[in-house]
Amino acid sequence: MERAETNDDLTPITDELRRLIAFQSVTRGPNRDLIEDVRERLHALGVPCRLTWDDTKTKANLFASFGPTDRPGVVLSGHTDVVPTTGQEWSSAPFAAEVRDGRLYGRGACDMKGFLAVPLALAAEIAERELARPLHLAFSYDEEIGCVGVRRMLAQLSEYAATPAACIVGEPTSMGVVTGHKGKRVLRCHVQGVGGHSSRPAEGVNAIECAAELVVRARAIARRLIAEGPFADDFHPPYSSMQTGTIRGGVAVNIVPAMCAFDLEIRHLPSHDPEPVLAELKRFATETLEPEMRAVDPDAGFQWEETVRYPGLRTAQDAEVVALAQRLASETETRAVGFGSEAGLFAEAGVPAVVCGPGGITEAHRPDEHIELAQLERCTRFVRRLVDELSEATSAG
Ligand SMILES: [Zn+2]
Repeated sequence: MERAETNDDLTPITDELRRLIAFQSVTRGPNRDLIEDVRERLHALGVPCRLTWDDTKTKANLFASFGPTDRPGVVLSGHTDVVPTTGQEWSSAPFAAEVRDGRLYGRGACDMKGFLAVPLALAAEIAERELARPLHLAFSYDEEIGCVGVRRMLAQLSEYAATPAACIVGEPTSMGVVTGHKGKRVLRCHVQGVGGHSSRPAEGVNAIECAAELVVRARAIARRLIAEGPFADDFHPPYSSMQTGTIRGGVAVNIVPAMCAFDLEIRHLPSHDPEPVLAELKRFATETLEPEMRAVDPDAGFQWEETVRYPGLRTAQDAEVVALAQRLASETETRAVGFGSEAGLFAEAGVPAVVCGPGGITEAHRPDEHIELAQLERCTRFVRRLVDELSEATSAG
């Protein structure tokens, strides 16, 4: 490696990132310590912060504003939660970040505390600037389980500031500008059967077999989506995909299983409403499968529970947020990605959004997660340019 192990300019950034990584803000667990640490430090700089807590008061979103809040500004958005390290073999302690070979290693280094660290490390310098338009930081909790936390923040956004003109979600895209991703729905299907002795199966309702018939039907629909579309060529795969990911049920081979549950996921193109597909599947359950089940017991049948839902993202190529991100990142292209983000929810809330952040998505969620220091450098340039733009009285938002 030609690059020095630590670059002087980057030391504040890597120090900040190390500090953020040390908070073990694993999804579903608390992030309170991290949020309060950030709030205290921003408060000390005179930067107002609004927190939205979850019901347990152990985790919160933070919305911080530099500059005037009565006019549209730009949001830098990211999640504070990280995926667990359970069962992963790491070369160094995942929550004690280490710099080696021009990279910083640690859980969340690229997904996505690296992005959060940049504006935080620059906070003192940003707070001293005379901003003509505001820069907001929107840090959320529980993104990794379906963009859960950010919704509470978005519900109150209008109380915090004038509707922002643009949002940049810093998920790892190697600083490329992403204007599209799929939406996702996850449904848990609970199948209520009737238990009994396996020597007399007709007197029971076999919940596993009923679930299986529905799973097979879902697979047939998934095949049809592959064959018939709708299609969008910039996505991989270029159609809405559907699969069953878990199934549980049964006690012993000589007992008719009374319960079964499975999780079904559809990742749909932003232009494809998944509702008719899901309705078709539910109709098959109620019209074809349930009558036979209920002939044995009226309580037998299917119940559906939606566990994850977030919209897709499809930002117009000529949107100002696209030009802004391209300018700041020195990029001329845009692309679509396979992973989801909070950007679709910002767009739904009326804030045009793109995804653009440091690090590669292939390094996320893995053992030895890391971020190239060069990526942190690029992100630092990006944020400094943004602050320069927001300092200018004229120029579009
Ligand atoms: Zn992420």
